[in-house]
Amino acid sequence: MGDQELINIGRSIAQDLDRILGAAAAEVRPRLVELLDRAEAGEPVRAELVALLAERAELRRAVRSRQAGDQQYRLYDPLPGDPGAWAPPRYVCPNCDQEWYRFDAGEAVPRCDQHDVPLEPC
Ligand SMILES: [Zn+2]
Repeated sequence: MGDQELINIGRSIAQDLDRILGAAAAEVRPRLVELLDRAEAGEPVRAELVALLAERAELRRAVRSRQAGDQQYRLYDPLPGDPGAWAPPRYVCPNCDQEWYRFDAGEAVPRCDQHDVPLEPC
């Protein structure tokens, strides 16, 4: 997904955070809003934003339901099974702990900015 789509999804989730996370919303909201503000200001915080959105099953589910293009921004996945079990594939640098989550198969896997090697699936 593009940066703007990610920001749009993040904003939508921020507005709905109490319903998505309950009491935990108070802990997540300030971090999410700060990252969204920085992303809109053009700062390279995409990886942090994606990591935050992948942190909890409820958030992953909320991202996925918004990615699916549901106009109602449905909170719960209608498919059978536990939608919370879905997680975006994670990539790490073989030389350090840099990590990145791939929410969209069309996204190119980045290189570690410290070691200049491709991040590897794990
Ligand atoms: Zn590295």
